Amino acid sequence: MNFLDLIFPRRCLGCNRLGSYICNACRTTLDLRGQRCPECDRPAIDGMTHPICLRPLGLDGLVTVFENRGIIKKAIKSLKYRFVYDAAEELVNLVPDSALQNLPIKSNSWALYPIPLHKDRLRWRGFNQAEKLGQFVAQRLKMKMIDGLLVRTVKRTPQADISRREDRIQNAQGLFQLNKLSTSNLPAGRQGSQLSILLFDDVWTTGATMKEAVKVLKRSGLGKVWGMTLAR
Ligand SMILES: [Zn+2]
Ligand SMILES: [Zn+2]
Repeated sequence: MNFLDLIFPRRCLGCNRLGSYICNACRTTLDLRGQRCPECDRPAIDGMTHPICLRPLGLDGLVTVFENRGIIKKAIKSLKYRFVYDAAEELVNLVPDSALQNLPIKSNSWALYPIPLHKDRLRWRGFNQAEKLGQFVAQRLKMKMIDGLLVRTVKRTPQADISRREDRIQNAQGLFQLNKLSTSNLPAGRQGSQLSILLFDDVWTTGATMKEAVKVLKRSGLGKVWGMTLAR
């Protein structure tokens, strides 16, 4: 137990029990999600995009771990809005190995890239929750995490505040631009098409944000791009 745990003891985000952010009882209520094709939303083996659904600027696959309800939904919300960012490690520890082992990833040519926040939002929140979670996912996958590939051009209404699906897709268009300096952020010797990206975000809602990001990344000549979200 560290000093901060003494002043701000960890309480379960689900039931308020002392000791951890997600207690053993609440852990048993977690629902794993079956993998689905990011394009047609039908079941897909290991989350790989169906060959007939593949599009040149689309995701090559998508892995989502949990159903976005109950304790997971609460925990992700707390991470974002109550600044409980040290819950990120606990959350990632809940991801079972089975959810990670089928990713078609060779860690030396892949890097995890967390979806960036707009700089104003980042300043307000102080951290990017996708990056906080992503760093622990990258550790588990023994993969490098990179940043700075994309910039969020316009601060839009948060997707969670928009209820109509069509409006969310509209809201995400033109959301990202390739960072001009981004090639300097790529690991040495792996520039361009040899590098593949695991694009990471906390939640997949309509997928509009991630689809917009993959479009820009692939236009810049990167190799394969898979998506991964903790919940959907
Ligand atoms: Zn609990
Ligand atoms: Zn499909």
